[in-house]
Amino acid sequence: MASITLNNIVKKYDDGFPAVNNVSLDIADGEFVILVGPSGCGKSTLLRMIVGLEDITSGELQIDGTRMNEAAPRDRNLAMVFQNYALYPHLTVYENIAFPLRLAKKSGGLNGSNGDSTGGANGGSRGRSLGGAGGGSVDDRVRKAAEMLELTEHLERKPANLSGGQRQRVAMGRAIVRQADAFLFDEPLSNLDAKLRGQMRAEIAQLQRRLGVTSVYVTHDQTEAMTLGDRVAVLKKGELQQVASPRELYEQP
Ligand code: ADP
Ligand code: ADP
Repeated sequence: MASITLNNIVKKYDDGFPAVNNVSLDIADGEFVILVGPSGCGKSTLLRMIVGLEDITSGELQIDGTRMNEAAPRDRNLAMVFQNYALYPHLTVYENIAFPLRLAKKSGGLNGSNGDSTGGANGGSRGRSLGGAGGGSVDDRVRKAAEMLELTEHLERKPANLSGGQRQRVAMGRAIVRQADAFLFDEPLSNLDAKLRGQMRAEIAQLQRRLGVTSVYVTHDQTEAMTLGDRVAVLKKGELQQVASPRELYEQP
């Protein structure tokens, strides 16, 4: 787990117009922050800069107080959860969840046998055991995550034979077994129907609290913004308009 600090972050694409403008935000260890705002306000850009898929034009990103602007994505040890699941159709649920671990093991980024990942620039200095799914062999970790997500009976199934909600849980299982320092959700529920969205919203909130893992959740959905997190950061035209708890937002005039 980790704190994430954004100091005056700016992103200019080729047209020179700032898609993200001077954003500063301190996200505490274990905190659940919702990043909300209309389409085009810079939410994905900000998330992609945090995870390392997009360069930061100026400003500083720190993870646990260490500058990370130049760190490769794999050295940031953050897990993204996407809306379209990005599951492999030919692999079983088990194999899908285990995939990032096998990948990391192959590239030497993860010390798979004892579960104590010491990949890249971090040098293992940051604590990263997640309650429940931490430690153990690949098999242990996959089974613990599956149990947490109520997927144990479906481990041998292929994604095509799962419901939308179950697929979303498999995607979360992948993030869990990585033992990432933080979860970054990019509108993970936007492909689901309203009923399932409500159900998954509750599941995500519960899971986040159980794991206590620092999370940033991007959405344009007001209900998600007001019900999921500890704090809501409102982004408008690339600028942070307001950061407040859902309660404070409700009560404001
Ligand atoms: P959101 O996620 O809130 O919908 P984005 O971060 O995707 O917003 O986009 C913010 C702004 O940056 C928009 O004006 C968008 O057109 C622009 N933008 C996003 N990605 C690129 C890109 N790769 N090249 C140029 N402009 C981009
Ligand atoms: P690839 O297509 O080679 O898997 P990605 O662009 O998906 O590469 O990911 C880039 C880096 O991000 C990888 O080196 C990997 O360590 C890390 N990574 C892989 N999956 C995730 C994820 N779900 N969330 C965050 N980082 C990831």
